[in-house]
Amino acid sequence: MSASAPSAATPLVLVVEDEPAIASILCAYLEREGLRARTAADGNQALQLFRQLRPDLVLLDIHLPEVDGIDVLRTIRDEGQTPVIMVTALADDMDKLLALRLGADDYVVKPFNPPEVVPRVRAVLRRTQLRAHSAPAPIRVGAIEIDASAHSACVYDGEGLAQALPLTLTEFRLLSCLAAQPRRCFSRGYLIEQCLPESEALERVIDSHMSKLRRKLQLAGQDGLIETVRGIGYRLWPAA
Ligand code: CA
Repeated sequence: MSASAPSAATPLVLVVEDEPAIASILCAYLEREGLRARTAADGNQALQLFRQLRPDLVLLDIHLPEVDGIDVLRTIRDEGQTPVIMVTALADDMDKLLALRLGADDYVVKPFNPPEVVPRVRAVLRRTQLRAHSAPAPIRVGAIEIDASAHSACVYDGEGLAQALPLTLTEFRLLSCLAAQPRRCFSRGYLIEQCLPESEALERVIDSHMSKLRRKLQLAGQDGLIETVRGIGYRLWPAA
């Protein structure tokens, strides 16, 4: 085997694109840059190959026949943290925002130059690999445990039994952010920057996510864990 032959350690990119010409150009560029690439031509095939091949990254066109790209992204996010770069048309600002809110890692706008896409793919892969290698230990604050690498949070009851907290991505980010520095007051602006970086969210958007998060904590017996700091923002204040 020559040094440049792709091996199982070579990152695999799943290119989901219904225009065959674009798909094959993208694959050619990715392969020329030393990555492996496979293509799916519609949303159903994308999900099937995603589960079968477990790619390292998905390059995902938003407008697809069958299941569209946004729904494919939703499913991928339900199943894990595989990085996804969305491909959107120039005019689709709403799609772009929605995709980022749903947890896409980056986006490229059509029409694009394939040589410009490859460095984006590389950058996202680098970021995720870094993330994977530096997987932090779960954070425990009071009865709450947050596992950033598993992207999950749970609450322990008095008997040490864990109950999973069913959080959205934004709620998870908010809880992680507050729990990283208990008792510190975080402004809404800072929380937007950290937890909704892709959006041009208004500060009241944070209030709405936070009220849902607090309701979930309350249901899990963690009433009052997150405090509102009037006029500023929020903090997590675990019981002593
Ligand atoms: Ca398309």
